[in-house]
Amino acid sequence: MGRLEGKHCLVTAAGAGIGRASALAMAREGAQVLATDIDEAALESLAAEAGGALMVRRLDVLDATAVQAAVAAAGPLDVLVSCAGIVHHGTILDCDEAAWERSVALNMTAMYRLCRAVLPGMIARGGGSIIAIASVASSLIAVPNRFVYGATKAGVIGMTKSIAADFVGQGIRANAICPGTVETPSLQERMRALGDAEAARRAFVERQPMKRLGRPEEIAHLVVYLASDESAFTTGTEHVIDGGWTNI
Ligand code: NAD
Repeated sequence: MGRLEGKHCLVTAAGAGIGRASALAMAREGAQVLATDIDEAALESLAAEAGGALMVRRLDVLDATAVQAAVAAAGPLDVLVSCAGIVHHGTILDCDEAAWERSVALNMTAMYRLCRAVLPGMIARGGGSIIAIASVASSLIAVPNRFVYGATKAGVIGMTKSIAADFVGQGIRANAICPGTVETPSLQERMRALGDAEAARRAFVERQPMKRLGRPEEIAHLVVYLASDESAFTTGTEHVIDGGWTNI
């Protein structure tokens, strides 16, 4: 029997990276997974990779009406994995109003919207687990050139803790996962955008005590744990998973 047998889970940004690995890992553990993303080709390939073990649906988390519709279509949910997020490179002086608004919209408002949509159903069912993908670049550590990213991921942690505090009496748990640097398509894109992708990779690896990047599957193990009843005594936390970058 899988560790998530009977659990209904919704994952955002499941087309690639951490969201994709999480959707696959939860499905392997017996969960009923609705995997969502804006990239329909990525969803098709995910469905094929899962061999029919999960459902896919296009969802742009920037669209409030679409979020409501997706949550309604998903039916009663036990687990939300709020994964969509974007990295803006630069200091406050590089972050114009448009960059600020885009990062706030995707990194924070989308999570606010999703949580408001799923919480009433979770409360009615007597419990649920909200898993927010934050980052160590947040209220945990300052990373150069991550001004609006760090600010919004700190916001993700703050929202997670508030929800944990407000709904602990109704059986809702809310936890944030704070990854370090993880090898995903968007990281590869960012390395290319810096000009010399190989030099950028060396710099990312060099700041890692383990001298390697994380893998999406390693984050997905933590997602499965926080989705499962194994973590029943865990709420309001920030789980650092970063190869030692933050703490050693
Ligand atoms: P990624 O950025 O490679 O892929 C993200 C997915 O999000 C893509 O499939 C894309 O189509 C989808 N997406 C983009 N805009 C969307 C929207 N409006 N609605 C729905 N889906 C949308 O994935 P990743 O690097 O694994 O990042 C996932 C999360 O993990 C993000 O919140 C990111 O900030 C966080 N994170 C990543 C790292 C890392 O090093 N990769 C580290 C810490 C935290």
